[in-house]
Amino acid sequence: MIPFLDLRRQHAALRGELLAAMARVLDSSQFVLGGEGRALEGELAALSGVRHAVGVGSGTDALRLALAAAGVGPGDEVLTPAYSFVASASTIAMLGATPVFVDIDPETFTLDVAAAERALTPRTRAVVPVHLYGHPAAMDRLVALARAHRLLVIEDAAQAVGAAWAGRAVGSWGDAACYSFYPTKNLGACGDGGMVVTDREDLADRVRRLRHHGDGGRYHHVELGYCSRLDELQAAVLRVKLARLAAWTGARRRLAARYRAALADAPLGLPTERSEARHVWHLYAVRHQQRDALAKALADLGVGTSVHYPLPVPGQPVFGGGGERRFPEAWRASRETLCLPCFPELTDAEQDAVVAAARQACERL
Ligand SMILES: *Cc1c(COP(=O)(O)O)cnc(C)c1O
Repeated sequence: MIPFLDLRRQHAALRGELLAAMARVLDSSQFVLGGEGRALEGELAALSGVRHAVGVGSGTDALRLALAAAGVGPGDEVLTPAYSFVASASTIAMLGATPVFVDIDPETFTLDVAAAERALTPRTRAVVPVHLYGHPAAMDRLVALARAHRLLVIEDAAQAVGAAWAGRAVGSWGDAACYSFYPTKNLGACGDGGMVVTDREDLADRVRRLRHHGDGGRYHHVELGYCSRLDELQAAVLRVKLARLAAWTGARRRLAARYRAALADAPLGLPTERSEARHVWHLYAVRHQQRDALAKALADLGVGTSVHYPLPVPGQPVFGGGGERRFPEAWRASRETLCLPCFPELTDAEQDAVVAAARQACERL
């Protein structure tokens, strides 16, 4: 059986270092808001090409606190892609603002900038592009649109740490950007975690306040806040892993290139990397019109796969369902995409077996 993802391999290789990092935190017994978190914030700000970073409890909270810090609230409309993980939109709604869904560019699975322009109204306040699967949204065009209409840009970079567009890191294009350290992400903790990165000092200060009960200092609570800090154990784990991130991203990029070469003539839609993009291949998503049958055939051949996402966000019951006619590309992506194994520890032999199985499965359909 070839697993879709096997995090045990990563942790077996780093076991000694991870345990030493955890022991360091245990010995210090400072578990919340300490030196590990501050060091990680500095490291991720540098990686993102910005001055500030604030660790929070999850990627979802990174989005919620960044949007709140930017003043998004009731009466505001916020553009966000119809095809993403639910948190890209739910965090907008949690603040009392209205997510306005926008269809995707079918080649990159990211926000269609022309469709975003058509969705503008006088109430549009912000846009939340998602760098889905690790491919950056078309940030030069999106930021130009945002400037022209005075919109905030909050990047959902949960799947794209280390990616870049036009030579500039994701995380540095918007007013702020949000990372997730959910265990399966490219930089994953041993639990939940997230971070807001920004070049705007005002936003960084406010996210820092919001993550800690709106505390302006010394138990003086100047606004309603949240309780959402990145804990020291997770920060220490993440610092061990961050030292490997460049190598892991290189391994993902190599796997994607091998898939592209080996499956070029197979009857599958292969994912692309735009010339401006540095893709970090969080997921390798192929397309097939009989996706479910393909997934089953691959499972029968011993290959694990995964469907991200079987239902677009506006189609989710929490958002009222429906929307297939308005967001045809989101729905098509939800019906057709299947993610193949693509993680740094996947061996060449395993990948060759996935390729052979994919060819065989396509023939059977
Ligand atoms: C994972 C993810 C999030 C949420 O991150 P959590 O850490 O799980 O809260 C948000 N947006 C996208 C696109 C994600 O993939």
